[in-house]
Amino acid sequence: MDIAINTGNSKYHVDKNGYYGRFGGAYIPEMLYPNVEELQTKYFQILSDPSFQQEFDALLRNYVGRPSPLYLARRLSEKYNANIYLKREDLNHTGAHKINNTIGQILLAKRLGKNRIIAETGAGQHGVATATVCALMNMECVVYMGSIDIERQAPNVARMKMLGATVVPATSGSQTLKDATNEAIRDWINNPVDTHYILGTASGPHPYPDMVARFQSVISEEIRKQLKEQTGSELPDYLVACIGGGSNAAGTYFHYLDEPSVKIIAVEAGGKGVHSGFSAATTQLGKLGIIHGAKTLLMQTDDGQIVEPHSISAGLDYPGIGPMHAHLYESGRGQFLSATDEEALEAAYELSKLEGIIPAMESAHALAKLKDLPLKKDDTVVLCLSGRGDKDLNTYIRHMSK
Ligand SMILES: *Cc1c(COP(=O)(O)O)cnc(C)c1O
Repeated sequence: MDIAINTGNSKYHVDKNGYYGRFGGAYIPEMLYPNVEELQTKYFQILSDPSFQQEFDALLRNYVGRPSPLYLARRLSEKYNANIYLKREDLNHTGAHKINNTIGQILLAKRLGKNRIIAETGAGQHGVATATVCALMNMECVVYMGSIDIERQAPNVARMKMLGATVVPATSGSQTLKDATNEAIRDWINNPVDTHYILGTASGPHPYPDMVARFQSVISEEIRKQLKEQTGSELPDYLVACIGGGSNAAGTYFHYLDEPSVKIIAVEAGGKGVHSGFSAATTQLGKLGIIHGAKTLLMQTDDGQIVEPHSISAGLDYPGIGPMHAHLYESGRGQFLSATDEEALEAAYELSKLEGIIPAMESAHALAKLKDLPLKKDDTVVLCLSGRGDKDLNTYIRHMSK
């Protein structure tokens, strides 16, 4: 896998100062400078090292189960009158794309000489992916999680504990993801020498957005090869992905950003409706602000307080968006849509019945917009099926009776 390609001439990749257009950068407390600076100066060199890439590739192949299949969904294609391919990240070990990033970051942490890992988690998916790689690499693992989320997500808390992680409740603020992130940052400030912070999405201070995008870029590298084998061309007409912080989307788009014929579609969580007050459609509702170390689009009140987001899917329930995506939105390179909770549920049932695949609630948001694309008969669509639906069964069952 070539995770260290030179993207220096691209308008859509990070620039040498850590920005995507006017978004990105590293807006961090002074006490975090040493940690973040160490990453900034070393990450690219480490990712470029052939022995690093060999170890990353081998684990992706033999532990995660990559390459993940690119599957032509025939019945779904018939229904929407186009050729729809699903990139099956749901078949990865631990059930989603998140493991690609945690494998990359744990190998990086080893090379930085760290022996302790911290992470934040909301629904617990990133916490589980982090606890998994810590077990694999024999590293101490501390996961911060809002105390409300700990109650809501008991099975994932049990998984993390079984994998040997310590789960620490974040009891401040709304006791959810953004508070857990604040606690993780506080821990990192107190433990700058031995600890690496495995951030779970394509946000945070530079270099995290680029680093996470590169670990996830295996997705689009595989798509190019697989699509060529199956259709004769590496280039689809549409790429579709859901966006929480933006890591599965960044991975899906990465090797296509500079292919202007490929249309990039990003789907945010519309919640109960974009203007209902219960939504996580950041590009439509957000303004320029700073969250968790990055300048980006962010849902906030007029005096700059973060607005609590809402989505039926925990993975999309975030008030910001990674800086790469804020730039794709503002530059017009990406088209941003939103799907409501209701639309996503319908799409999840539809995929289950048409293809025998139960998608994650997050991925169902991407599926829900197939009906809104101006598809033509010979169009090729590649949609990132970011994860599987086992974790969402309770939500699905609750809505089945309606
Ligand atoms: C966490 C998660 C997401 C959202 O995170 P991104 O960083 O935006 O990809 C999407 N799908 C699944 C299955 C997830 O677990």
